[in-house]
Amino acid sequence: MLKGKTALVTGSTSGIGLGIAQALAAQGANIVLNGFGDVAGPRASIEALGAKVIYHGADMSVASEIEAMMAFAAAEFGQVDILVNNAGIQHVAKIENFPIERWDAIIAINLSSAFHTTRAALPAMKAANWGRIINLASVHGLVGSAEKSAYVAAKHGLVGLTKVTALETASSGVTCNAICPGWVLTPLVQKQVDAKSAALGVSNEEAKKLLLGEKEPSMQFTTPEELGALAVFFCTPAANNIRGVAWNMDGGWVAQ
Ligand code: NAD
Repeated sequence: MLKGKTALVTGSTSGIGLGIAQALAAQGANIVLNGFGDVAGPRASIEALGAKVIYHGADMSVASEIEAMMAFAAAEFGQVDILVNNAGIQHVAKIENFPIERWDAIIAINLSSAFHTTRAALPAMKAANWGRIINLASVHGLVGSAEKSAYVAAKHGLVGLTKVTALETASSGVTCNAICPGWVLTPLVQKQVDAKSAALGVSNEEAKKLLLGEKEPSMQFTTPEELGALAVFFCTPAANNIRGVAWNMDGGWVAQ
């Protein structure tokens, strides 16, 4: 279905980004990988699906590196047809204890990077009259949680950016939507499970149940594979007129 299209997924060396890159690759898209840590493993897992893969290690907190990544992708594959703004980090602390440096990093990586990639990708998408921009927001783009000020502010901002991008492309074949997961058991959340387990002196399994029990009526983690399937759906013709939504996949978190 996506043969000949190029998908750039920021933060795709791990977790949700990797799951989405694999799902898009399975539909035939070329993949531009980005992110830190091991690259060889993620690259091999995508190449095994028959996709062409290139990697750029741009730091999503640095605008000039993002510009270089977008130019690299366009030079290698012609243009970016599907942009998935996924890279993100978390820090948990009360506002009065929140390190200024962590606030700045979260706003830069979880919010501003999507502005930089989107502004670079839009001209070619508009010229082709087809494009998909998918922003990985969070339930925290829709509701708040204590001790996550920067993350909640960034994700609400990302949902806002999604709406404006959708409006500015509304009469074209380019769409922009946000995906809002609840808990997904990736390294980002495992850190929070570990912190809970240590703070309460309970096992990791017990800490996972407590984490889910606080927020998710389904008592189930959403998986990167399920999120990948939703991203693929946004790329189908059936999604041509879905514009500016913030689609939660959260086990009932924000239904409460
Ligand atoms: P993860 O930690 O498994 O992966 C994050 C990815 O981003 C990694 O590839 C990492 O290398 C990359 N990254 C981090 N900082 C970067 C930077 N400065 N420049 C480039 N790449 C960078 O996390 P995840 O859980 O897969 O999260 C992915 C996205 O989904 C994030 O935006 C996160 O906020 C969002 N999200 C996650 C959950 C969850 O429960 N895990 C829930 C809702 C939303």
